[in-house]
Amino acid sequence: MNIKQTHKELTEIRDIILNANHVGIITHKNPDGDALGSSMAMYLSLKKQNIKVDVFTPNKYPDFLSWIKDGDEIIVADKNKASALKKLEACDVLLLQDFNALNRIDMLAEPVKTHNATKILIDHHPHPENHFDYSISETGMSSTAELIYHLFRVWEWDHLIDRDIAEAFYCGILTDTGCFNYNSSDPKIFEVVADLLKKGVRKDHVYALIYNNYSFDRIKLLGLALNERMHYFPEHKTAYIALSKADMKAFNYKSGDTEGFVNYPLSIKGTIFTALFLEKASEVKISFRSIGDFPANEFAAKYFNGGGHKNAAGGNSQQSLQESIEKFVSVLPEFLNKLKI
Ligand code: 5GP
Ligand code: MN
Repeated sequence: MNIKQTHKELTEIRDIILNANHVGIITHKNPDGDALGSSMAMYLSLKKQNIKVDVFTPNKYPDFLSWIKDGDEIIVADKNKASALKKLEACDVLLLQDFNALNRIDMLAEPVKTHNATKILIDHHPHPENHFDYSISETGMSSTAELIYHLFRVWEWDHLIDRDIAEAFYCGILTDTGCFNYNSSDPKIFEVVADLLKKGVRKDHVYALIYNNYSFDRIKLLGLALNERMHYFPEHKTAYIALSKADMKAFNYKSGDTEGFVNYPLSIKGTIFTALFLEKASEVKISFRSIGDFPANEFAAKYFNGGGHKNAAGGNSQQSLQESIEKFVSVLPEFLNKLKI
């Protein structure tokens, strides 16, 4: 456990949560396994202690996470904004989990910014913004789920971890490490996993719920992506996949269907950088992945209004899909030259 704050400071934060009248847990838009797993682990543990608590997400989580205990209790802000904002207003402590910048929570950003509640950031992304009352920011952690697991140890909440909570934690760790492919070289992660298994995590079952739970259409969309929509630049050790609105519509795209697509080109020998362009209703959403020292987050921040981790980052573009791809292809040599890769 290497959390920067002292035991005393962490205990102070715990007591603020325990003394809250109504805790709001907020996580980022397009919530992933760590966003949801870490939020629901916190939610279930607070509920067990009879603390009034709600979880807010800016938009809906993907179906492959619908198995997480009490996921149907989540308040999805873009479903009923007025009612979500009213509930948010009632909170006196806000836990902001798995994001480092308010623009990651979309329409919840402004209400959170102007909120009178005590705001506590709990996150593992680099360069957190600093308008929070408390900030538990640990970039060395594989996931926010792992960070919160360690907090529970400090807070002496580990007895609360039942199978549902353990599986929520495990979901966060599993998905944020790409099934222990990256961000997971620290042996302590496996000590956490060992303990979660002791608490009853059904490891193979959880894997299947997350990764073997797609529609036939999704696999066909992957086929199209790999066969016709992938472009490879061996001289730059880079590949990208681009899917248009029409591509996604043709295969009845549902949120979460393209999860993991960006990783496939990394399996081409020697590839160090990949991108996935998705043409959405009002923007192009871009995911980046890299191997080793290539800073995908710096690339995302410099050219595509984004950020994230060194090896897993994202951003967006307000240009057309074609223009976004052209920009990517044109800035690639410049960035690579600077890195001397
Ligand atoms: P994904 O490609 O799975 O959507 O995102 C990978 C990682 O990139 C996320 O964990 C998050 O840290 C970061 N990320 C994705 N989209 C954005 C974005 O629009 N802005 C920023 N700052 N980070 C992003
Ligand atoms: Mn995370």
